[in-house]
Amino acid sequence: MKYLSTRAASSDSTERKRFCEILLEGLAPDGGLYLPEHYPQVDDATLLKWRGVYRDQGYAALAFEVLSLYIDDIPAVDLKAICDKTYTEAVFGTKEIVPLKKLENSLWLEALSNGPTLAFKDMAMQLLGNLFEYELARRGEELNILGATSGDTGSAAEYAMRGKKGVRVFMTSPFGRMSPFQQAQMFSLMDANIHNIAVDGVFDDCQDMVKAVSNDLEFKRQYRIGTVNSINWARLMAQVVYYFAGYFQATTANDQKISFTVPSGNFGNVCAGHVARMMGLPIDKLVVATNENDVLDEFFRTGVYRVRGSADTHETSSPSMDISKASNFERFVFDLLGRDGARVKALFGDALGKDGRFDLSADPAFKEAATRYGFLSGKSTHANRLATIRDTFERFGVMIDTHTADAVKVAREHLQPGVPMIVLETALPIKFAATIVEALGREPDRPAKFEGIEALPKRVTRMAADVDAVKAYIAQHCT
Ligand SMILES: *Cc1c(COP(=O)(O)O)cnc(C)c1O
Repeated sequence: MKYLSTRAASSDSTERKRFCEILLEGLAPDGGLYLPEHYPQVDDATLLKWRGVYRDQGYAALAFEVLSLYIDDIPAVDLKAICDKTYTEAVFGTKEIVPLKKLENSLWLEALSNGPTLAFKDMAMQLLGNLFEYELARRGEELNILGATSGDTGSAAEYAMRGKKGVRVFMTSPFGRMSPFQQAQMFSLMDANIHNIAVDGVFDDCQDMVKAVSNDLEFKRQYRIGTVNSINWARLMAQVVYYFAGYFQATTANDQKISFTVPSGNFGNVCAGHVARMMGLPIDKLVVATNENDVLDEFFRTGVYRVRGSADTHETSSPSMDISKASNFERFVFDLLGRDGARVKALFGDALGKDGRFDLSADPAFKEAATRYGFLSGKSTHANRLATIRDTFERFGVMIDTHTADAVKVAREHLQPGVPMIVLETALPIKFAATIVEALGREPDRPAKFEGIEALPKRVTRMAADVDAVKAYIAQHCT
């Protein structure tokens, strides 16, 4: 399997790369995102076999089946060992790894948030940690991951990379702006290869510092700076697996279809659903749920993709969906436009840069987003979120977090008779306690292993929003 950039000219096959080459890379050199040259097709016999694999051998074995179709430069025994080590009951809490919970008739939750940081990003990041450690050891190289976080991504990255050989994490976050629980999760890590940097500023200041360091190519090369952001293909690929696992749990035979509703921000999660559907998984609809930051809902309703300025990007109670643009969206548009890399380059490289928008409403391809690719969308607000959390708790005794609530609200608007709908649960309510208290008048349940976490000693370095200070810190801790 080779990978190409979403901005590659279709005639150009020289720039195609193998999996381990793109594993440690972010964007492609032309600014595009990597995708496989083609989607491997899963026929009926394979689907039947995988149903048995998941049932009899478990999630890790299913992950190995799916990943084997995309990775041909890691020996099978090694890849199998990596999957087995990653997806364990000890780490993810249940034998199913992603168990389904029934709400009402034909509406299910798929629990993706029982990993170490209680958010779905663990599903991919835990695998990424093991893949990085493996590939870096094989090359005899080191990697210093520099990131900015306002919550979920940073903690998922730290819990994935803690104690891993050859990897250090330098994670910047805005001082005093994460929830006490999120701060405790990150800052209580005592592993020598994990560095928390609390910056006097807001999230954008952290992100600007990361960009500035990455743009210093000499520094970047000398200190082997890398990232783990959501455009990494390996993260997306790992997420494809749980669409299969959800399907097998909700159906008894392969002639049944199901739909998914996905709380969306950067379009990584639902893009994995798109890939699963392209592989032949019988998915009917893929419903994109957004919060007040409705860039994606607007596109699927109107055909206009319009990036928001920072003044139009709202801080909401489902903060992991607060985006001004959806960085993985380019992958879907590449498929939608018949994999025309030159056109994708014109839209994402040129039009977005110049006008901050593009309009596909008059293009016949736009209709196919719904008709051929199954995409629908909807939007949820703070009031919807509170009402949905309350309603779900009162009627079913199930407490859901704010992001999942956005998706449950939107899923209800797209239910179709005879087609089970699975809502992906992307975080546990404990991570967003203040809104749960607002909705229910009580504190959310806390998993036993997080009891008293706020009182643990903290390991964090406070710093001014100063690029040179971050560089100096990295240089000092890279020996
Ligand atoms: C990251 C995140 C999302 C958004 O996922 P994307 O892949 O960016 O669309 C939704 N919910 C939670 C809890 C998250 O952490």
